[in-house]
Amino acid sequence: MTAAAATRAGPAAACQGCGAALVRTLVDLGEQPLANSYVPPEREAEPEPVFPLHARVCDRCLLVQVDNVTPPETIFNERYAYYSSFSESWLAHCRRYAETMRERFGLDAESLVVEIASNDGYMLQYFVAAGIPVLGIEPAGGVAAAAEAKGVPTLREFFGRETATRLAGEGRTADLLAAKNVLAHVPDINEFVAGVPILLKPDGVFTVEFPHLLNLIRETQFDTIYHEHFTYLSLLAVEKVFARHGLTIFDVERLPTHGGSLRVFAARKDSGREVSESVANVIEVERAAGLDRPEGYAGFEAKVRRVRSDLLDFLAKARAEGKSVAAYGAAAKGNTLLNYCGVTRDQIRYVVDRNPAKQQTLLPGSHIPVRDPTALEEERPDFLLILPWNLRDEIVAQNTAFREQGGRFVTAIPQLAIF
Ligand SMILES: [Zn+2]
Repeated sequence: MTAAAATRAGPAAACQGCGAALVRTLVDLGEQPLANSYVPPEREAEPEPVFPLHARVCDRCLLVQVDNVTPPETIFNERYAYYSSFSESWLAHCRRYAETMRERFGLDAESLVVEIASNDGYMLQYFVAAGIPVLGIEPAGGVAAAAEAKGVPTLREFFGRETATRLAGEGRTADLLAAKNVLAHVPDINEFVAGVPILLKPDGVFTVEFPHLLNLIRETQFDTIYHEHFTYLSLLAVEKVFARHGLTIFDVERLPTHGGSLRVFAARKDSGREVSESVANVIEVERAAGLDRPEGYAGFEAKVRRVRSDLLDFLAKARAEGKSVAAYGAAAKGNTLLNYCGVTRDQIRYVVDRNPAKQQTLLPGSHIPVRDPTALEEERPDFLLILPWNLRDEIVAQNTAFREQGGRFVTAIPQLAIF
């Protein structure tokens, strides 16, 4: 029996947050392979495991989530190849974060900064440079070794109640505990958040960043839904999870990263921190968008179907006119889009990507080959579909030659655009 069949045969899933039965669909994206499992060409003929990709919203606590079908060990293992330090703009974002936190919370040589999912030390290195003691927590061995080479001591494990309790028992509690883009990837959000107040000093601060559900809904960013991304978070839903574990949110910032993110500041309930107006402001925006009630999520699936039919119409028309279409950026979100739409290499002949680790592989599901960006000069496609729309401006700027040769760019989300 496949994993997918096992899931289908089971009872209605329970909410990862509050345990209520999940009865409301946000969007059903069908059965898909894992978005990051790029296929080596020699394994092209082998069957690929597929799993249901079905996002639901909990009627009781409003947590948006997908069925947990994959053990984390299959994703964050020794082969996990996402090194945060590859992106210059992300590093600049992290350097600013470190400077701001240091000043705002008065961190110094007596403090301890802990980061969960510290990857290759991309962020903690800026605290190390400022002489502030740090500890990384990172289960993926390859990136953890890279962090230690940068002078970032790293525990190779998953974070939860047990790790927090052990560290606290050793007197290693945090003045600042950071989690950047990890909360949504945690398979058991309660187990994770329960560890936070244990590891925090009484007046310690927890900062967590995550893509804001508001933007996913408003901009039809359904391609950010994939199996490794278990929850899709509003401030309303996060507030409920945090309150359950004795954490109070005292500030929130809106960030442009990942198509619109939130940075939430939380502390132990007994810390007595003053709550900024920003918290009520963001919640008001979420309420106005209908995120505070289950019915507010209706209509999303229809918008997603529209994206699919518009993209397929465009590809059919291009083909009928003898025009060639290539894609740019072999990102995970592109795989959700292509596989939901059922796009094959008859419609998109190849995708180019600058990451050498992805070149010469095939995209999971669609099996579209990944090539070096120089392929664009040789093949001169008529259209270039940009898959990571969040990097659209950067990609357009890097490919002026393509446009000068008469090529046109295409994006599918939030709606089809040709420019
Ligand atoms: Zn719930």
